[in-house]
Amino acid sequence: MIVLNLKEIFDRETRFQARYSIPPQDIRFPPEVGEIKEPVDVYVEITKYDRGYNVHLDIKGKVELECSRCLVVFEKDLSQTKDKHIETYPVEETIALSPEDLEVSFMEDPDVINLEDIVREELILEIPMKPLCRPDCPGIHSPYLLFEDSNPKREDPRFAILKNLLKDMEVEDGGS
Ligand SMILES: [Zn+2]
Repeated sequence: MIVLNLKEIFDRETRFQARYSIPPQDIRFPPEVGEIKEPVDVYVEITKYDRGYNVHLDIKGKVELECSRCLVVFEKDLSQTKDKHIETYPVEETIALSPEDLEVSFMEDPDVINLEDIVREELILEIPMKPLCRPDCPGIHSPYLLFEDSNPKREDPRFAILKNLLKDMEVEDGGS
């Protein structure tokens, strides 16, 4: 786990810079969203300002996604550069959010950050709601489904399996 105690770091420094290679198991990417198979490289640069910290991230990584139209698994590059602010929860009752605030992450304790959590969040934000292997993906394309097979006698092995299953079911029904 990459936990950065910013309070301690900024007692000594005015700028924090580091490079990490985070293995997939530490990213803990939600499997229902996609699969990360290779380490994600992160360059992080943090500076302090009055209300919190500026976090600059340079992320290099990719994820395997399933196309929402044709179900093919494809690779998507998630490399990105991000600048975020990390602040404590504001004490005021009502806050008017400016567009700039949209990149602010409010944290209970902004002095201690978990870099893996931040990187995971940024990676998930890059995943489209309906991933497509390519913008003009035509969808499922199978000669069996379209009945365009030049040899109609040839049977889809999947149908053969289904037939056998049905036969088994008939036998079971007959026996009871
Ligand atoms: Zn597709």
